[in-house]
Amino acid sequence: MTTIDADLLLTGGTVWLGPGRRTTAVAVRDGVVVALGDEAAACTAGEVVDLAGGLLLPAYSDGHCHPPQAGAEKLGPDISHLESVEEIVAEVGRYAAAHPELEWILGASYDPSLAPGGSFDAAWLDAVVPDRPVLLRAHDYHTAWCNSRALELAGVDAATPDPAAGVIDRHPDGSPVGTLREPDAYGLVDAVAPPRTLAELTGALALACQAQAAFGVTWMQDAWVETDGHLPYLALLADDALTVRTNLAFLATPDRWRDQLDTFVAQRAQVEAAGAPQLLTARSIKFFADGVIESGTAEVLDPYEDSHTHGMPVWEPEELIAAVVTIDALGFQTHIHAIGDAANRHALDAIERAVATNPEWDRRPVITHVQLVDPADLPRFAALGVTAAMQTFWAQRDPLMELLTAPRLGDERTDRQYPVATLARLGTRLSIASDWPVSTNDPLEALVVAATRQTAEGLPDGGWVPSERLPIEDGIAAATAGGAYQGWTESYRGSIAVGMAADLLWYDRDLTAGEPLAAREANVLGTWLGGKRTFTA
Ligand SMILES: [Zn+2]
Repeated sequence: MTTIDADLLLTGGTVWLGPGRRTTAVAVRDGVVVALGDEAAACTAGEVVDLAGGLLLPAYSDGHCHPPQAGAEKLGPDISHLESVEEIVAEVGRYAAAHPELEWILGASYDPSLAPGGSFDAAWLDAVVPDRPVLLRAHDYHTAWCNSRALELAGVDAATPDPAAGVIDRHPDGSPVGTLREPDAYGLVDAVAPPRTLAELTGALALACQAQAAFGVTWMQDAWVETDGHLPYLALLADDALTVRTNLAFLATPDRWRDQLDTFVAQRAQVEAAGAPQLLTARSIKFFADGVIESGTAEVLDPYEDSHTHGMPVWEPEELIAAVVTIDALGFQTHIHAIGDAANRHALDAIERAVATNPEWDRRPVITHVQLVDPADLPRFAALGVTAAMQTFWAQRDPLMELLTAPRLGDERTDRQYPVATLARLGTRLSIASDWPVSTNDPLEALVVAATRQTAEGLPDGGWVPSERLPIEDGIAAATAGGAYQGWTESYRGSIAVGMAADLLWYDRDLTAGEPLAAREANVLGTWLGGKRTFTA
């Protein structure tokens, strides 16, 4: 055995190479893994990290999240963990009083299950901020709650019709309640609110990168980039401060997509010109096929139990097909938000048409959420090479599910949600996605829920639809190699092997060894991006 000179040696714990495969040490030189096991342990190294009986994993990929929005939550009133309407109102009042210089109070993200039907009243906010506009985003990011001044500035009143793909909650007399559902509706208020500055957004993104590194994430998919949303990334990259590799997805909308194409191509070229393809790419286009079940806006094949509607498709099916075929021909990856079973069908139809129409290429289409899928459509994911980027953290019977989701779907459909194990058995490529700040950005929480289908309290006993549980090592594979494939990074990251970048994650214990629910106790001690430490506990 020849001795290798290394910069970094990690030893004294378990190194995870894939389901059921382990070794004992990793040696790194120039940011790349150069030896494993005994050969690594024999290396001379400038720095030796004693894993202290912990677990070394390939660093995670987050298949769908919103980092600037998550970071921006820290710029406004801190309402994301509050547990009642009263607490939210009090925090907004406190923040507004502390910031008399602000013309608008912008905040996120509140829990939409805290008011009946998710309908929040402008008057509750008027009581603490009567004179300035307030706009708050719910943590589903499909709903907003604003005060009367904001409605007034946006010109939303009893005479305002509901937009094509949005709902204005109304009192019996037709006047707006203060809750606006889907971008078409809250966009009426967004349009008059001041946008965040580039400096604010760059600062927010830097906070988001730190938060992702703290949970062991070294690649993420920003799944909602609007006009100039690539600029904060380019700013961080220029400062050598983009510490999480990122792929951007530009948002295409039904009314504007034809006019957006030139911008998508130009902004992709701008990102490519920055010349850091292993740190920043802009290879994807995001589509919303529908809304969310909690608001009754996800598109479903059979009507909702309560409203007797089929929800709210964002696109005409033929128009979605036309848009997907077009961007696919431009070499963009398709990334579709689909929640209801009708929306998932339309998303698959559009991808199927792109595959049939355009020349063969390494297209790697993505459907995210994949919450409710008709059984007939389940095999189509594997057949079309679609990665299902799933928020497995949502596969639990928490208050959101009990209060807002299950009553709309009824028992039979409720229990068919998040068919994770079925998709895996059918050969579907899976990745794990947080949808942060909608949910926690800790991938381990998503893996534990996937493995247990239980709440943090361990309910229900034995798990909700236990046949859909995903063993924790299969979950780790989806969150590492699966996400790496989604983002075309699998040739250099997503697994621990000689020749791969040292994107590594160190836990204080071997969370694959015990009960999955106990894995939640594990803590990240370190994260490395290409051999460079991006998080230290
Ligand atoms: Zn999202």
